[in-house]
Amino acid sequence: LTSRILIAMALGLVVGAMFNIVESQGWLAGVYDSWIDRFLVDGLFDLGGKIFVALLKLLVVPLVFVSLVCGVASLGDNTRMGPMAGKTLVLYMITTAVAISLALLAGVLVQPGSGFNLTTEVNFVAAEAPSLKEVLLGMVPTNPVQAMAEGNMLQIIVFALLVGIAVSKSGDAGKRIASFFNDFNEIILRMVVILMNFAPYGVFCLIAQLAADLGLDAFSNLLQYFFTVLFVLLLHGLGTYALALKALTGLSPLMFYRKMKSVALFAFSMSSSNATIPVTLKAVRDELGADNRVASFTVPMGATINMDGTAIMQGVATAFIAQAYNIDIGIGGYMMVILTATLASIGTAGVPGVGLIMLSMVLQQVGLPVEGIALIIGVDRLLDMTRTAVNVCGDAMVTLAVAKSEGMLDEQRFNEDPNMLPAR
Ligand code: ASP
Repeated sequence: LTSRILIAMALGLVVGAMFNIVESQGWLAGVYDSWIDRFLVDGLFDLGGKIFVALLKLLVVPLVFVSLVCGVASLGDNTRMGPMAGKTLVLYMITTAVAISLALLAGVLVQPGSGFNLTTEVNFVAAEAPSLKEVLLGMVPTNPVQAMAEGNMLQIIVFALLVGIAVSKSGDAGKRIASFFNDFNEIILRMVVILMNFAPYGVFCLIAQLAADLGLDAFSNLLQYFFTVLFVLLLHGLGTYALALKALTGLSPLMFYRKMKSVALFAFSMSSSNATIPVTLKAVRDELGADNRVASFTVPMGATINMDGTAIMQGVATAFIAQAYNIDIGIGGYMMVILTATLASIGTAGVPGVGLIMLSMVLQQVGLPVEGIALIIGVDRLLDMTRTAVNVCGDAMVTLAVAKSEGMLDEQRFNEDPNMLPAR
């Protein structure tokens, strides 16, 4: 599947780039607008891509709910839930803080924003950062059906935890319900497998449309910013995670990346950790060997609160905007950025483009002009894709670390050659 997705991506890129050139050169002017753009790019490709993302998204809520109930119900001893959740949260926070520190360091060293010499006139209103009280209160659903209808992941997690705990304590009734949930879980996983067969077509449509519509003019004076973010994303995604995985689990980073390849490609083409949950969950359980009892909690949790890649963009962007406007926020300001960005990522979901909204909170917090976001918006689409891939790799890495420390990691499965794994 991975190679089929890669081929689809390459084809999409070629077709889209071709259309892009045709349009920017003004060749076939009339025909392009009325036919190619209307029927292919904004028609067929847009439709194909959107249907594919919608199909995966529709699985997210039932999958998270059902697999988490199964996970908690089969935990047996519910007291293990606390330490497991604690470790997960701490690891998510630490990796995010490392990510943003690396990004700030790179931003300060490379100085991508120097020479812009901008002054601020307009005052954009930043999105308000939720207070800790609001975040905590917002996690408890008053109406679980509403939480599911709105796809509020943290509320769904809280409800599923409660249901799972109650199931495990309800004797025979609990056993019957648990077996229903286990069967239901199988069915949803089967749906994931079925839908993944359409991935190459979906990915082709997404990438072709993106390449056809991408304006390259925005890049010219943002190249330094773009490549600084990209460099730190790669450094963190390949360096920090490899080190952390080795240190925390002793497992082979190479095998980890081999098996995460297709998950990262999914995340990249969809720009959404949330929509990638079904694929991530399947990979960490079936291929990387993490037990469902851990993964069903850590993966949806991570897609919601753990966004290292997003934090990296925010770190570089903050340094960039400070430099572009010649504002010195000092060490204290940078410390504040680390804190705000780490906390802001908890309250926002993993959907495309949300990173920029969080960035406005961070800028506001340290008194930088929020309208600076307009400077980087033009190149954000590609960075969004790349950072989403980093976000999901972070979720998977922490899942393995927690699974290992809980004795819930099947190392033999982790080490199995991905080409030899039996079809599941
Ligand atoms: N698209 C990212 C994600 O879903 C969030 C962001 O950086 O905008 O993880």
